Amino acid sequence: MRTSSGEHERCIFRRTMNLKNANAEELVSTLKTLVGEERRITTEILHYLSEVESRMIYAEMAYPSLYEFCTRYLEYSPGSAYRRIQSMRLLRELPETARVAAEEKIKNGSLNLTNLSLAHSFFKAEKRETGKVYSAAEKVDLIAKIENKSKREVEQTLSAIQPEMLKREKERVLSPDLVEIMFVANSALMSKLARAREVLSHSLVEGTYAELFETLVDTFLEHKDPMVKMGETSAKPKAFKIPPAEKSGPVSAEKSTVEGQSSDGGAWGSKYSRYIPIKVRRQVWRRDRGSCTYQDPNTGQKCGSRFKVELDHIEPHGLGGKNSIENLRLRCRTHNLFYAQKVYGKSPAVWLGNLQTERKLKAKVKT
Ligand SMILES: [Zn+2]
Repeated sequence: MRTSSGEHERCIFRRTMNLKNANAEELVSTLKTLVGEERRITTEILHYLSEVESRMIYAEMAYPSLYEFCTRYLEYSPGSAYRRIQSMRLLRELPETARVAAEEKIKNGSLNLTNLSLAHSFFKAEKRETGKVYSAAEKVDLIAKIENKSKREVEQTLSAIQPEMLKREKERVLSPDLVEIMFVANSALMSKLARAREVLSHSLVEGTYAELFETLVDTFLEHKDPMVKMGETSAKPKAFKIPPAEKSGPVSAEKSTVEGQSSDGGAWGSKYSRYIPIKVRRQVWRRDRGSCTYQDPNTGQKCGSRFKVELDHIEPHGLGGKNSIENLRLRCRTHNLFYAQKVYGKSPAVWLGNLQTERKLKAKVKT
């Protein structure tokens, strides 16, 4: 049943008024009902998120990722958004009957989003680090093992299977100007850091990790920031705004959208884009201010993401579009893909397959 926001507020108000007169038994029993309702709504939200993701509705609304849509449009905290997205993706990978069963367990409280998102991170890390791909049946088995467990118990269960897989990174806001960052460094990285500290020993005052990292990042930006490379004077990074987020939370790939990341690793560095003259690239970059130009046709909201920014052909290259300034624009990976999907009318996966085939053919012609 739908109610207007006014009615909703009045309803909450009545409930608040009644609370004062309710006895402890009534309070606890109603609270139990409300928590059940909250869990039921949570599973419903996961269905909605899945649909928003599969139809790329977030991209149409000028958000570069589902995570950005959840934090900026739905106004979830970073951790809440992360847990919902991870849980939704894990549930989506399960066979229908297992998914329905897992949703029932969320509703009755034997499974929660924290544990599901931990499991999803674990499966992804296993695939990335060891190449192991869990079957749907194996995932169902593992999910059964994390039921009715605390976060710590789930971490212990997963660590027992593969100790190296839960090296999660954390950010903790200490003050409006300070963030504590935690991550695990392997021996190779530690050796590199030790060598960097030796090389910079004359310029480091205190020799702390914070000072070392700042010096390394400054050097990196000086050489790799496309704004500097293109001769822009406004190469200074935007002031980093510490979000009033949760005290700590996992850092997902989506979450670590570093502003101003070099686009050299993207399409610009590929064989496909080598045909675009540097002069043209620079002009497009300057005109579009190094950020995604996608705009929601309905609201006019701009994406503006500076993460994984790529050159995009307005008239697609595959359909004969030219490498001219007028036919090029900057787009983030999501909106490049979103536009390609519209043009080619196929799923992103199929389109990417076509693009890779096209790149291989071009490389062949070239050699
Ligand atoms: Zn974009």
